[in-house]
Amino acid sequence: MNPIVIVGSGLAGYNVARELRKLDKETPLTLISADSAQFYSKPMLSSALGSGKAPEAIAMNTAEQMNAQLNATIRAHVRVTAIEPAQHAVHLYQETLHYSKLVLALGADQIRLTIAGNAAERVMTVNDLTDYTQFRATIAGKESIAIIGGGLIGCEFANDLTSGGFKVSVIDIAPQPLSRLLPPAGAAMMQSKLAALGVEWRLGTSVTSIDSAGEKLRLTLANGETFEVDVVLSAVGLRPRIALAQAAGLKTNRGIVVARSLATSDPDVYALGDCAEVAGLVLPYVMPIMHSARALAATLAGKPTAVSYPAMPVLVKTPACPTIVSPPAAEAKGEWIVTADAEGVKSLYQDVTGKLLGFALNGKATAERATLTPQLPPVLS
Ligand SMILES: Cc1cc2nc3c(=O)[nH]c(=O)nc-3n(C[C@H](O)[C@H](O)[C@H](O)COP(=O)(O)OP(=O)(O)OC[C@H]3O[C@@H](n4cnc5c(N)ncnc54)[C@H](O)[C@@H]3O)c2cc1C
Repeated sequence: MNPIVIVGSGLAGYNVARELRKLDKETPLTLISADSAQFYSKPMLSSALGSGKAPEAIAMNTAEQMNAQLNATIRAHVRVTAIEPAQHAVHLYQETLHYSKLVLALGADQIRLTIAGNAAERVMTVNDLTDYTQFRATIAGKESIAIIGGGLIGCEFANDLTSGGFKVSVIDIAPQPLSRLLPPAGAAMMQSKLAALGVEWRLGTSVTSIDSAGEKLRLTLANGETFEVDVVLSAVGLRPRIALAQAAGLKTNRGIVVARSLATSDPDVYALGDCAEVAGLVLPYVMPIMHSARALAATLAGKPTAVSYPAMPVLVKTPACPTIVSPPAAEAKGEWIVTADAEGVKSLYQDVTGKLLGFALNGKATAERATLTPQLPPVLS
């Protein structure tokens, strides 16, 4: 019998394997990963530098340990180069593997902006444990870091690196941090709390070029300002990895298009996690992965199950300004009602009848998360 093959050893790949093993201990399972297939929690990458955590302290299990835990064949450092759905086959470098069912858990790439200058290629990104290892080695003994992007990941790195003693500046094209997640009052609190830690904000502008300046990097901004730093980190968003699926003729859009069954346009190929677009939604967070993994495992174990998502607030890991967000759906019609004092900002997104459609809580207002979350509509019912 051909195995179920999972491609990807991130939270999506490993969680679907774990959930499957709770229901079915025997069906042969192969997990293929382009990386070392160590099990780790990716959200730690933007909150572990400040405390000096080594990559080994972040990785929770080796590929061998996961092999034993999951009764699976785990193949690390092996890249899938093509998929042939009609043959139920995936191609590796010099090998073809046949599957009964295929699960794509390929993740997403950090978007790289096009920036001019002779040192633009020195911009770093942190999207996995290998990146973290390289970034940690690069910043050792350095003083100043520019972060391009003041979104969730940029703000988390800014808080973490400042706590670690680095001089951090954040550049964002928007006039405020977290522009996709926070209304202005909440963003202002994030901005001032991180500024109080030492973060320098350069908002409403962008980086046009990066050039070498001796050991340093000189950034030129669209507003004409120039300044020098030791290291530049980019955190401007993610792009689902769709190329493999696209080349195989599977339907793709922003992500690999899947129905609520998590099946792609081929009924024996599934996708979940950062690479997937589930019923039109691309949700690159941990909670949607956990719900998807449970539903897909049930389907793979023989009980077809559609995924549903409750409201899933996201914690922004900025201890200087505790923040929890549950953004309204793109098509939601309402307005932000904001109450603020020196210690917190509560932003509620409500429709004309007062129904709660989303929220953003900063500072002491985060204490209201437990009472507000049950009032939110499900993300996918
Ligand atoms: C710094 C950072 C902080 C974050 N913090 C939070 C947070 O606080 N809360 C939250 O909810 N979310 C957070 N996220 C998002 C969350 O971590 C991701 O949604 C989640 O980890 C994605 O898991 P994944 O398995 O889909 O993808 P990934 O972890 O990217 O895994 C993809 C896997 O696919 C493999 N792969 C890709 N292509 C191939 C191929 N061709 N052949 C073989 N293998 C392949 C890769 O090697 C990798 O093993 C954060 C993300 C980052 C980057």
